Amino acid sequence: MTTNKSKELFERAQLSIPGGVNSPVRAFKSVGGTPLFIQKAKGAYLYDADGNQYIDYIASWGPMILGHAYEPVVKAIQEYATYSTSYGAPTELEIRMAELIKGMVPNVDLIRMVSSGTEACMSAIRVARGYTGRNKIIKFEGCYHGHADSFLVKAGSGLATLDIQTVPGVTGGVSNDTLTCAYNDLDAVKALAQQHKGEIAAIIVEPVAGNMGCILPQPGFMEGLRQLCDEEGIVFIFDEVMTGFRLAPGGAQEKLGIDADLVTYGKVIGGGMPVGAFGGKRHIMEVVAPLGSVYQAGTLSGNPIAMIAGFTILNELNTNRGIYTELDEKTAYLHRGLDEVLKAWCQPYVINRLGSMISVHFSDHAVTDFASAASANNERFKKYFHAMLNRGIYLPPSAFESWFLNNALSYADLDRTIEATRECLAEL
Ligand SMILES: *Cc1c(COP(=O)(O)O)cnc(C)c1O
Repeated sequence: MTTNKSKELFERAQLSIPGGVNSPVRAFKSVGGTPLFIQKAKGAYLYDADGNQYIDYIASWGPMILGHAYEPVVKAIQEYATYSTSYGAPTELEIRMAELIKGMVPNVDLIRMVSSGTEACMSAIRVARGYTGRNKIIKFEGCYHGHADSFLVKAGSGLATLDIQTVPGVTGGVSNDTLTCAYNDLDAVKALAQQHKGEIAAIIVEPVAGNMGCILPQPGFMEGLRQLCDEEGIVFIFDEVMTGFRLAPGGAQEKLGIDADLVTYGKVIGGGMPVGAFGGKRHIMEVVAPLGSVYQAGTLSGNPIAMIAGFTILNELNTNRGIYTELDEKTAYLHRGLDEVLKAWCQPYVINRLGSMISVHFSDHAVTDFASAASANNERFKKYFHAMLNRGIYLPPSAFESWFLNNALSYADLDRTIEATRECLAEL
């Protein structure tokens, strides 16, 4: 498989774009080699600039849950584009979107649209601070909540991939208000809450962590956080940018049976267009302007093209709930197949999975938090990644990212992926 055009494009890109990319993980820096420049995609397949085909396990980092260039979305965008791409005034479509989401998701009385997951999380924190009159937040090591200043402390995703511990440009004042704990360590969170009693506005968590591989909450962890927040008057924020509309129609709240006070969305909610949202219980969301004085705004928020793309996807997921069973079954099938070939290989490994999120770790210990994800054999992951890419399987270019299945994947695609893994392991 030749990738000369991608190589040329990467050289050219670096002359005008920092590192040649508009988002760091795309640069393949941690796995080495040249990132592929993508020309188009259809269903479960990506096509690069050299015309090579790949089975896609990134799904644009989550959004393309029904596959690429999904016909109803393409048609809807085409139709709505003819009415103008933005008005800067309210539309009925935004109400339909909010009503649809409220019908799918628990605990959302009011919801505000934004244009990215970062904006959603940044705004949710501001709301929690405005509501409680407190400054500090607790987040978890290896969780990623976007690139807003408050979250760039022990963050996962690209920061973990590039081994960036502290970010120049984030002031000490801001990072001092972000407290961190290890994921799944409830006792540490309780201790921190006692140490800073009356100062903590919010606990923000990925209900299933997807930015350090796929890491499941241990039994009792989310329940314990919920109880702690109730006892201490802390706003409990579920960052469902990744899990929302992916794990279930009602996201992780539904899948895990845990109520959040505020919830953030992104990725799937936009069907591949730039959309995020934050929402939650009425008494908290009422502080948001123009109802209250916590200011939050966006020129392109609720953009009609973005809304119709998101609405079309969510509506499909809502009316055809069998999609979640299909995705679960496909991912379980992949899990079983990978298990079989990895077991036969006789080297330590761990596979974590929930619903259509799955990750493979070359580890001899359970992967339950950032430290255990980071101490896996990530050199081996790099080799596995490249060996798979050479066979036309596009995995996330980092051991610190979950894989995302899309429902356009066929069982033949999954078989090819399992078989490719068998060949790659023999090569490692
Ligand atoms: C991707 C992600 C974000 C950030 O969303 P962007 O749209 O990239 O700004 C926030 N939280 C989680 C859990 C994410 O996975």
